[in-house]
Amino acid sequence: MKPLRVLIIEDSPDDADLLVLELARAGFEPAARRVASRAELERALAEPWDIVISDYDLPGFDAPAALAMVREKEPDVPFVIVSGVVSEAAAVACMKAGAQDFVSKNNLARLASAVSRELLDARTRRERREALERLRQAEERYRLIVESVRDYAMFMLDPSGRVTSWNPGAERLTGWSEAEVTGRSHAIFYPEDARARGEPEAHLEIARREGSHHEERQRVRKDGSIFWAESSLHAIEKASADQGFSVVLRDITERKRLVDDLREAVRVRDEFLAIASHELRTPLTSLKLQVQSLLAKRESPNGPKLDEKLRLVERQVGRLNDLIGGMLDVLRITSGKMTLSRERVDLVDVVRDVVARAQPTIERAGYVVEVKADGPVVGHWDRLRLETVAANLLSNALKYGERKPVEIGVSAENGRARLTVRDQGIGIPPEAQARIFERFERAVPIRHFGGLGLGLWITRQIVEAHGGAIRLESRQGGGTTFTVELPM
Ligand code: ADP
Repeated sequence: MKPLRVLIIEDSPDDADLLVLELARAGFEPAARRVASRAELERALAEPWDIVISDYDLPGFDAPAALAMVREKEPDVPFVIVSGVVSEAAAVACMKAGAQDFVSKNNLARLASAVSRELLDARTRRERREALERLRQAEERYRLIVESVRDYAMFMLDPSGRVTSWNPGAERLTGWSEAEVTGRSHAIFYPEDARARGEPEAHLEIARREGSHHEERQRVRKDGSIFWAESSLHAIEKASADQGFSVVLRDITERKRLVDDLREAVRVRDEFLAIASHELRTPLTSLKLQVQSLLAKRESPNGPKLDEKLRLVERQVGRLNDLIGGMLDVLRITSGKMTLSRERVDLVDVVRDVVARAQPTIERAGYVVEVKADGPVVGHWDRLRLETVAANLLSNALKYGERKPVEIGVSAENGRARLTVRDQGIGIPPEAQARIFERFERAVPIRHFGGLGLGLWITRQIVEAHGGAIRLESRQGGGTTFTVELPM
């Protein structure tokens, strides 16, 4: 048996000895210490005690005062008063203040049973207090977790789906504060149409039946705005009838947006492939027909002139070549393989060359192209690439210029060369003006105007690789002017 640590508050050593004897007789192994003053008690309370037995009246000191000191240090230790003469009122006051029992010195035989009972009670009290403390700590930990989570809304619903708890993440996500939302139905987080279909109730029903319900769906914030959320609704396992639910919501709007962007990119690519194959096939079909008719002509002396046919074939081949060349340019640029071979180049010379080469097209389409330049504009550039720039802008002007005069200007100012290509054609709607510099983007239907939507993108890449910039001014139906500026 473990010795019983007994603290005896008693001015009479004999009385204290009697108490110890009585306890030993009842089978305890008392390890006792006697104190008789506040100072001694104060010192003794530095050690742990299993029980405190106190006389009522001590010189300059009494049981209520001793009890107060003991309780301050040891809230659970049993405190038993053993005294000779005490009024009933004093005894009651002591019990009210927390003394566990009162034993008369005339009836010490009752001491041992009182001590046994109090020790047991004290243990129960201590265990309950410790259990409560563990519970409080567990709750505190849970609260800290739930409260520190900002990216997830976590809240609880009562069995009818009304909010009973709310974390800061939920407030951040939905805009509802805890005070506003408590007691409201979780249906307020559903969009109008989902509410009309009875989804909030249906989801609770599924969770009740199957334990949980998960989905990705649109939700509503307090201000009515919509966001995409991944939600988990769990039925809380509880024996009692008032089963409720826990809900975790995560905002996945950004993820949805990325998926939509990717889908859009795939759509644009597919559209491009459709246009590209169409565009490549048109000259090919024509070529095939020409070749077939050339072959047939060998037998027919009345066929159209061979020269003309051959020129047509040549043009179509040239067009195929340009289209494929453009696609290859794109591949080179996107894979980062575009390197510039810079040399001394006269931009005026480049433009005149390009126009000369396009002369057959210009004439055939019935255009007049005028080049305006005061003198050479020389810089350190990649000549072939600048030819591509001028050719692309000219070819667009001839495509969209409605056969009205096209004007190309080359000039220099403050160390920068400027190339302008002005047409008086269909123009570009304002909403399309930024977009058309992107890959595959076009502002006209493929039915009316062929093209892959790559020319302006390639042009911009080349201009920017030279440290320059390209811009446009256009009015719908009022013509377009592209301006390229290059550092010299
Ligand atoms: P495309 O092969 O379609 O011509 P571009 O990249 O050269 O490709 O041009 C993209 C789009 O910009 C064209 O589809 C057209 O809608 C518009 N565009 C380009 N240049 C002009 C212009 N001079 N006048 C009107 N629209 C133009």
